[in-house]
Amino acid sequence: MKPIKSIKTKLLIRIVISFIIMSIVVQGIVFVSFRALSLDTAKEKAMSVAELIRDTITSFMVLGVYDKRDVFIDRIKYARGLKEVKIIKGKAVVAQFGNSKEVNNTTNMIEKEVLETGALKSHLSENPSAVLYRLVIPYKATTTEQVKCLNCHKAKEGEVLGAVSIIMDLTNQRKEGAATMSYMMVVSLIFSFCTLYIIYVFFNPYTELFKKLRSGFEKAQEGDFGERLSVRLIDEAGDVARGFNTMVENLSNALSLINHKVSLLIGYQVAGSGNALKDTSKTVDMLINIYNFKRTIEKDQKKTEIFTRLEQILNTFGITEYSIYEVTQRNNTITTISARSDVSQSYGDNNVLWCNNLITANAHECRANRTGNMVDSRDFPVICPHFCTENQVLKARKGHFCIPVHIGGQVGDVLQIVYNNDREDEVTGVLPYIKSYLLEGEPVLEAKTFMELLREQSLVDQLTGLYNRRYLDEISANLCSQAVRRNTLLGILMIDIDFFKQVNDTYGHDAGDQVLKRIAMLIKSIVRTSDIVVRYGGEEIIVLLVDVEAGKSFKLAEKIRQKVQDEIIEISGEVLRRTVSIGVSEYLTHGDKFWQCVKYADAALYKAKESGRNRVVVYEHQTQSPKEDM
Ligand code: GH3
Ligand code: MG
Ligand code: MG
Repeated sequence: MKPIKSIKTKLLIRIVISFIIMSIVVQGIVFVSFRALSLDTAKEKAMSVAELIRDTITSFMVLGVYDKRDVFIDRIKYARGLKEVKIIKGKAVVAQFGNSKEVNNTTNMIEKEVLETGALKSHLSENPSAVLYRLVIPYKATTTEQVKCLNCHKAKEGEVLGAVSIIMDLTNQRKEGAATMSYMMVVSLIFSFCTLYIIYVFFNPYTELFKKLRSGFEKAQEGDFGERLSVRLIDEAGDVARGFNTMVENLSNALSLINHKVSLLIGYQVAGSGNALKDTSKTVDMLINIYNFKRTIEKDQKKTEIFTRLEQILNTFGITEYSIYEVTQRNNTITTISARSDVSQSYGDNNVLWCNNLITANAHECRANRTGNMVDSRDFPVICPHFCTENQVLKARKGHFCIPVHIGGQVGDVLQIVYNNDREDEVTGVLPYIKSYLLEGEPVLEAKTFMELLREQSLVDQLTGLYNRRYLDEISANLCSQAVRRNTLLGILMIDIDFFKQVNDTYGHDAGDQVLKRIAMLIKSIVRTSDIVVRYGGEEIIVLLVDVEAGKSFKLAEKIRQKVQDEIIEISGEVLRRTVSIGVSEYLTHGDKFWQCVKYADAALYKAKESGRNRVVVYEHQTQSPKEDM
């Protein structure tokens, strides 16, 4: 937040206020002193003049030329610049000599007071146009001095004989005083301005330093460490500037080092917002999240769990349209693990949401799989012809990134991110982070893929590609509880190839293998993908029909029998046909124990063989109960 006033303004305001107060006080003191001095001087002068007049008039009386006094009074009035000079007679003198013409009887209050009290009185009257100082000094009858008043005057010792009253005009002195004060004020103003300027020049580098420091800190808060301060000042301020420079330099270096190391770690440069602090904190946060992701998926059991987490991460990045494909390099196929669009529901299995179906049967058609590199629709308008080919309108406003995930040196999965073109910048911004998650997840996905493959292989029969008996052991409990939960039936078909030994004997063991494989594939193609086909042992195959309706197991078994019978198998240039016998039982119809029902199917198979082969027999309790049941 910016302060309301800068240090410079505050400093200047304080100094100016100090100067104004100091000037007022000094000028006031000077004014008062000057005025007092001027007045004192004027009073002293007035006193001297009044005394001079009094003494001179007295001398005139002694010399007997009292009648010449007007000449003197006029002269002195003119010479001393007096406004008025009056000789006032006291009561005793008036009583003795009468009131002469020159005596002004219209005495004012001050003069009357002096005549009455015999004390000296003065009065200063000031108005804008004039300053007048009136001084009235008494004439007292005395015998002690050289002039013996009582020789002529009929009065008592100390009695007031009269008074000398003068008025001195001080208007000019006031004018001169005002002029002097004005000069002083001007001089002091010039002095104040000079002092202010010197202070300003002195403090300017410091206030500038503060300004720069403030902007430097503000920029640093925004993650910009480019501000450097000038270190011209060779005092504490210089040290502060140097300290600031070193601090931002170190911070900037440390942050770019962190970002550099992080980019080495994650394999690419994270796009910065320009705010090094925020970028670093975001990158570190992201690293922690990626680290947590890796730690979590390491403990996940299946690849699907990892992909579910990946989907959650995509959602946190605001990506709601995507596909996750699994590439099976062995048979060059692609399966959709998950796919989402803002308008349709998720797709699974072989349904492809964002690409042409061609890629599922031929993984080579997938550009990301073929090139092993990310496919970016920003590079070229239709970078991959299989992306949304069915919806040209959609294609026009959608972009996509297809990021391959490498497993065992080959593309194992592809993450396809789809976005509306108006969100291109947003999606491009989060792409590096998503890539980081994939990169970190790659070794874990690799390990899980191999584990799943290994497990799959241990549950699959290598010759026929059907599940083996171990798988049947694993899955049977689940299938049974599912049937109970859904209140459906589980059909069990026990299939055995008729006179298979003959094939081996006639055409050899390898030919026997081929026949076994062909019949296994044929059976698998007849049943639904959700049904389970297991090589039970030798040339016996067991089929579990999930969610089957009552009686449907027989129909399907009959269909299998018929199709096998119709199948023409070519072996070493010769054509042969085989038949199968099938025993049928239904879990929950014939019993509520799975393995018991398998035995029932086996018993029915025995019956089929017994009754001539190439037939389907449904288990019946009364006639076919296995030995341990009887
Ligand atoms: P039927 O079932 O109709 O009574 O006659 P069969 O000839 O099929 O009788 P049996 O069950 O006694 O013989 C099964 C033969 O299947 C024995 C074995 O040589 C052969 N067989 C079992 N497993 C394989 C295999 O993996 N490959 C080949 N080539 N033959 C196998
Ligand atoms: Mg057989
Ligand atoms: Mg057999």
